[in-house]
Amino acid sequence: MRRDYETIIVGGGVIGSGIAYHLSEVQTEGILVIDKEFPLNGTSGSTQGWVWVQSKTPSWYGELSMFSAELYEYLPRKIGDIEYTRTGGIDPFFTAEERDRALRLAESQSQAGIEMHVLDRDETLALEPALSPKIFGSIHSNLDGTVNPMRLVEQYMRAAKKNGVIYEYANPVINIEKKQGEFIVTAKAGTFSCKKLVLSAGVWTCELGKLLGINIPVYPVRGQIIITEPLAPLLKHTLSSMRQTCNGEILIGYTKETAGFDRRTTLDVIEETANFGAKIVPALAEAKMVRTFAGLRVMPQDEFPIIGGVPGIENLFIAALHSGFTLSPLVGTILTELITEGETSIPIDRCNIARFA
Ligand SMILES: Cc1cc2nc3c(=O)[nH]c(=O)nc-3n(C[C@H](O)[C@H](O)[C@H](O)COP(=O)(O)OP(=O)(O)OC[C@H]3O[C@@H](n4cnc5c(N)ncnc54)[C@H](O)[C@@H]3O)c2cc1C
Repeated sequence: MRRDYETIIVGGGVIGSGIAYHLSEVQTEGILVIDKEFPLNGTSGSTQGWVWVQSKTPSWYGELSMFSAELYEYLPRKIGDIEYTRTGGIDPFFTAEERDRALRLAESQSQAGIEMHVLDRDETLALEPALSPKIFGSIHSNLDGTVNPMRLVEQYMRAAKKNGVIYEYANPVINIEKKQGEFIVTAKAGTFSCKKLVLSAGVWTCELGKLLGINIPVYPVRGQIIITEPLAPLLKHTLSSMRQTCNGEILIGYTKETAGFDRRTTLDVIEETANFGAKIVPALAEAKMVRTFAGLRVMPQDEFPIIGGVPGIENLFIAALHSGFTLSPLVGTILTELITEGETSIPIDRCNIARFA
C-alpha cells in the first residue's frame, strides 16, 4: 500500500526534525519524517552542542550563525526547555601572533555586525577564572552559547508530532523516483509518495542524491569528545574546545579527522584532547573521565552549508551542513519559507548546490 504525503523529510536528526517542526507551524497536514534508525542515531546524537557564532567566517556565514543564535532566544518558548544558555563564548590563545590574528578577525566580523572583543590575560581571567594564567588573551563574544542536543531534537519531535507530523523509524529509504510530478519514496518497510521532498540525511545525504542522479558533495569528518564526571560549576562560558552542561559534566573535544564512517574513539586522540583540556583549564587535570564518544561531522566539500532547492528537479530540497545545532532554527525557518512560499526572507544563494556544478 502506498501512502501519500504533501512533504516527506528523509532524515530526522536536528536538521530534519527542525525543518519538520518549523514546517508544521505553517503546513498543518501531510508531513512525514522517515529515518533509517532513529533521530539521534546520526551525528546529532554524538555532538558538542555549542551555538557558536564568533569565529564563523566569511562574514556572510557568520551572519547566518548570528541570525540563528537570535532565533534560539525564542525557541524554548515554543517547544519547551532545551537547556539553551547564552553563556558567551571565549576562545583563549597563547601567543602575540594569535592575538594579531584575533584582532584581524574581530575587525572583519564587526563589518557584519558580529560583536566580539579581543581581551588581554587579566580581562579574560576576570571573566573566566578557571582558565590557565598562562594564556596570552582571548576572543570573547556575547553571542555564543550552548544547547542540550538530545533535548533539542526530542523537543522538536514532540512539538512536530503535536502539530500532526508523522515519524517513521527504523525504515531506511532505499529508492527514490520522480514520476508525473510526484516523488515515489521506497523504504524498506513501505512505499510513500509526496509532492515535496527534503533530503536531510546528514553524511548519508550524498547516497540519497545518487538515487536521483545528483551529486551532493558531503563527507564525514570524525570528532572525538571526552565527558568528565559531573563537577561543581567551573566554567561560566562556552570555551572554543569545551562546555559545561547543566548537570556539571564537561564535554571536551575539537579534533577533526579523516576516518571514513568509523565512529570509534582512539587512545592517541583522547590523550591529546585530555592534555589540551588540562592546558586550558588546569583543574581538569584532576577530573575523572566517565565516557568518550566520536561523531561524524557532516562536511560539505567547501565546508559551507548546502541549503535550498535543486536546479532541474522541482520541489526537491536539500539541507546538509556542519554546525547543524548552531544553524538549525534558521535552517528550519528558511526551508519552511522555501517550501511554502517559494522564496526566503534572507538570501541563501551562496548555500545553493548549484555552486558545485
Ligand atoms: C564531535 C562533533 C561535535 C560537533 N559540535 C557541534 C557544535 O558544537 N555545534 C554545532 O552547531 N554543530 C556541531 N557539530 C555538527 C552537528 O552535530 C551536525 O551538523 C548535526 O548533528 C547534523 O545533523 P543532521 O540532522 O544533518 O544529521 P544527522 O543527525 O546525522 O541525521 C541524519 C539522519 O538521517 C538518517 N538517514 C540516513 N540515511 C537514511 C536513509 N537512507 N533513510 C532514512 N534515514 C536516513 C540517519 O539515521 C540520521 O538519523 C558537531 C559534530 C561532531 C561530530
